[in-house]
Amino acid sequence: MEKYLLYINGEFRESSDKKTFESVNPANEEVIAEISKATVQDAKDAVDSARKAFDSGVWSGLPREERSRILKQVVDKINENAKRLTELEIMDSGSTFKKAGEDVFLSAKSLNYYSKMAAVDFDENVEGLSKEGVSKNIIRREPIGVCALITPWNFPLKMAIWKLGPALAAGNTVILKPAMETSMTSCELARLIDQTDMPKGVVNIITGSGSEIGTELVTNSKVDKVGFTGSTEVGKIIMKNAAENLKKITLECGGKSANIVLDDADIEMSVDGAIYAGFYHQGQCCEGGTRLLVHEKIYDEFVGKLKEKISRMKIGDPADKKTDVGPIINKKQFDSVMNYIKLGKEEGAEVLTGGNKVGDKGYYIEPTVFVNSNNKMKISQEEIFGPVVVLIKFKDDDEAVEIANDSIYGLGGAVWSGNDERAISVANRLRTGTVWINEYHLLSDRAPFGGYKQSGIGREFGVDGLKEYTEAKHIHIDEIKDRTKKFWYGTVVPKD
Ligand code: NAP
Ligand code: MG
Repeated sequence: MEKYLLYINGEFRESSDKKTFESVNPANEEVIAEISKATVQDAKDAVDSARKAFDSGVWSGLPREERSRILKQVVDKINENAKRLTELEIMDSGSTFKKAGEDVFLSAKSLNYYSKMAAVDFDENVEGLSKEGVSKNIIRREPIGVCALITPWNFPLKMAIWKLGPALAAGNTVILKPAMETSMTSCELARLIDQTDMPKGVVNIITGSGSEIGTELVTNSKVDKVGFTGSTEVGKIIMKNAAENLKKITLECGGKSANIVLDDADIEMSVDGAIYAGFYHQGQCCEGGTRLLVHEKIYDEFVGKLKEKISRMKIGDPADKKTDVGPIINKKQFDSVMNYIKLGKEEGAEVLTGGNKVGDKGYYIEPTVFVNSNNKMKISQEEIFGPVVVLIKFKDDDEAVEIANDSIYGLGGAVWSGNDERAISVANRLRTGTVWINEYHLLSDRAPFGGYKQSGIGREFGVDGLKEYTEAKHIHIDEIKDRTKKFWYGTVVPKD
């Protein structure tokens, strides 16, 4: 069994009260690791370490190329250890082999992107007003300082990298707190980072309870920024707590995204797409296509094919390379999803397929589709975060857009159509951060990802994602040619 320690100021240590917690494999309910449970004092120590490292300039003061080189060392370490990281991710999070392998690959790819971004100079020179002629204006992108990075359990390594990448590329120092459910790959990351030239104290990784050490990180006055991915509920708590000293925040929260199939879509492809959109990682995806909107003209054919294809999905051991559906993360989430299935029936929706638990060990639920449903039902409005898709019929593009936008969330969504122009015109009208056309889940390192409405604040990825971890500084330089000239102020006289 693996034993993991806290990583503070470049050293591995037990928590100050020696307490630990266990990590459980959701596929068989076996304990697979013992992990140090940080105390509030440990969190304060991690913040002090990051603060000291930031203020000393050991990271922000390095030449850009040097920061880039060290981040690339971390990328190489992830790639060298991809097999082990994949195996751990499967055991710790119930990710299928297919998903976990992809997660590790994409984590390395994203960090590689940010290692390159670290070397890019984003400072700009612009002209402005001056006493005489024009002034020189430098716009500098400076790191914010100490960033607390708090991640959820559905994409453990990937979420850690999505935050570490831009935060470190911009020159910040960090404290990463992964979800207790899935801390293993973040702890492995600490071991890998420790083998690189990363200066001590720049990256601190602490494990433990969100309500205890998470709250400390969010309220600690030495922390300048919080980057969070998780539920909308906790996002709101973080926003309130961070308001105390007006910390910068980026929140990636929940979703209830609409997956829209127009009447000119390729049915075979859009059915496969609907399954991928709704059931990838057992539906535990914030931007998953959980509301499936299908045009009435193709509805019957679509529903028949959907049911048939779902019946062929393989549920079971996530480590088996052929498995399509693994377990739900834990008992609590399993119970919550089963309750939503019960609620759907009570609300009058009908189960097209699925709806049951599978087996006696592990937290398995059949991929479930509700029909005879409408967008007002709770199963259509609330985030279930499990393998449950609600199918809703629509008559034209206007109605599809109206249903899609009738949600407190706005994170993802898709349009399936044989006509790009029509699909783009629907996409343009959706109040959501990402819209795929004839695809789902695929994100680009260079394109911003984030939520409208209650799905979040700020963006990850691309230049937008990097800027979330910077402060913009403006330096105005007025050239002095004629010392008798007064300031610009007062030179504008309105005509009578
Ligand atoms: P969660 O309960 O919100 O937890 C997320 C993280 O926040 C965990 O590390 C948790 O610690 C910590 N936390 C809990 N309470 C806290 C507090 N008061 N202060 C600071 N930190 C606190 O979410 P989850 O259950 O892990 O993940 C599922 C949710 O995440 C879903 O609702 C999903 O939609 C959302 N999600 C969103 C995105 C996105 O990009 N928008 C991506 C993935 C997931 P613990 O270890 O104690 O749990
Ligand atoms: Mg686990």
